[in-house]
Formats: sequence, structure tokens, C-alpha cells
Amino acid sequence: MEEVTGLAFDEKRYYKRQLSFPMIGEEGQNKLRSSKILVVGAGGLGSPLLMYLVGLGIGEIVVFDFDKIEYENLHRQILFNVDEIGEYKALIAIKKLQKYNPWVKISGYTEKIDEKNIEEILSKRFFAFDLIIDCSDNLATRFLIHDNAYKFHINLLSVAIDHLSGSLLFFNFVDSADSKTGEEGCLRCLWPNSQNSQILALDENKNFRGILNIVPGMIATMAVMEIAKFLLKWEGSLKQAENFLIDLTNFETNRVRWNKKKDCSLCGSLNSQDKKQK
Ligand SMILES: [Zn+2]
Repeated sequence: MEEVTGLAFDEKRYYKRQLSFPMIGEEGQNKLRSSKILVVGAGGLGSPLLMYLVGLGIGEIVVFDFDKIEYENLHRQILFNVDEIGEYKALIAIKKLQKYNPWVKISGYTEKIDEKNIEEILSKRFFAFDLIIDCSDNLATRFLIHDNAYKFHINLLSVAIDHLSGSLLFFNFVDSADSKTGEEGCLRCLWPNSQNSQILALDENKNFRGILNIVPGMIATMAVMEIAKFLLKWEGSLKQAENFLIDLTNFETNRVRWNKKKDCSLCGSLNSQDKKQK
């Protein structure tokens, strides 16, 4: 078994229960430690997700969230408390997460990710993300992140909730990087535009239907399980273009996969404009 390189005594103690977990061990801990993840959104999904990612020992985590801490969100945004109202979530989050696990590298940004900066963020400011975790709360951002993850060949896990249901959408844009003729689709094969994307649209209903705090908590921890499975290459992890759905009222689950559409505006073979130029 490979030795976890350069672990300080206390760091080794921090991971002791994982190092002795047969499916992780020192080799697995090294894999986690050499992984780099971008998390968009440090809210109801992002808060618990970040805590578990940090505890798991992901080597480098970059957090983007432009919002500030507000009273009406505290019940589910468990990283924050009433003394921090009005502060930037990204900045408070990284301060706390760094104390939770001082051996991970973590940085936070208060910019809103949009059409103007996403290319620079993904291709110039940072590079070599193993995974983007989208915990944003609006469809425009979700499609923007998806399209650019495709363009820059970065794997993407898009995490969403709706009322008492959750959705994990996974795209392996590294292995399917140049597969215009491959079988597996992208988000736009499923939903050509945000207006008719039923599942992901649902997380925009929070202002009308409210949110039960445990729902994002559960879906976020399920997402971290998938992230661990993917990084550690365990069997049963989500495949390219796969949507895992769970209904928390009865714990019924469903996995949906779909094929590439030839006329997809992003990845279709009939799309003459190759939009994947780097
Ligand atoms: Zn497509």
C-alpha cells in the first residue's frame, strides 16, 4: 500500500478512521488529497457539502458565492450563524472550513460567475479541476456552468433540490471530451434551453414553496458520497450523462440516462460550429 506522502502527525490522526477504512486506505487518501474541486454556491446545499468535502480531505477546494448571509437562509446554511448576518458567505465559509481541516487548501471568491468571467475562471485563473460541483440556485448559472464545463472538458456534478426531492446530474466531460459522435448526451440534449428543464427548474421555486432544511442537507451529503465514489473510482458511481433522482417522501430512487441528440446545439454532430475550441 502506498504511503500517504508528507502527512504530519496530526494530519495522519485527522484521517485515521479513513486510513483504516479498507476502501480508502492510504492510497485512497492520497487520491482525495491530490484532487481539486470547484464548488459554486455555499448556501443550503453548499454549506453541508463543503463541510463533508473538507472533512473527507479533498486537497484543494475553490468556493464561489457572491451572496451574503441572511436570516431567512440560516436554518439550512449550517456553516453560518446569526453573528455573521451581512457578511459574504464565501469568506466566512473558507475561514471556518480552514479551521475544520487545516490540511486542505481552500480559497473563496465573492464574484458572481457569469458569461463575462467564466472562461477566465475555468481556463486562466485556475486549471486542472477534477470536478465542478454546481450548488447554484438558478437555471441561467446552471446552464452557463454546464456549457463551459463541456467546453473546457471538466467533469461536472450538478446538485439540485425541489420541495422533497433531490437530483444529482453527472457529466464526465473529460472522458467524453471529443465525443461529438459518441452516444452519451449533455444537458442540452435533454433540455435544449432552461425554459423547459423541469427538474432543475424546480429549485427556483423556493420563494413560493419554501424549503425544509433537511432536504438540501440530505442531497448535499448524497452528492459528497458520489464525489468520493467518483474520485476513488468505486463501482456504482454515476456515469456520463446520468441523473440520479430521489423522492424523500418515500425514498424512491431513479436513475435516468439519455442519448446524444444529433441536433443538440452544444454537442450534436449536426452542429457544424464546433464550440469546443480552447
Ligand atoms: Zn448535447
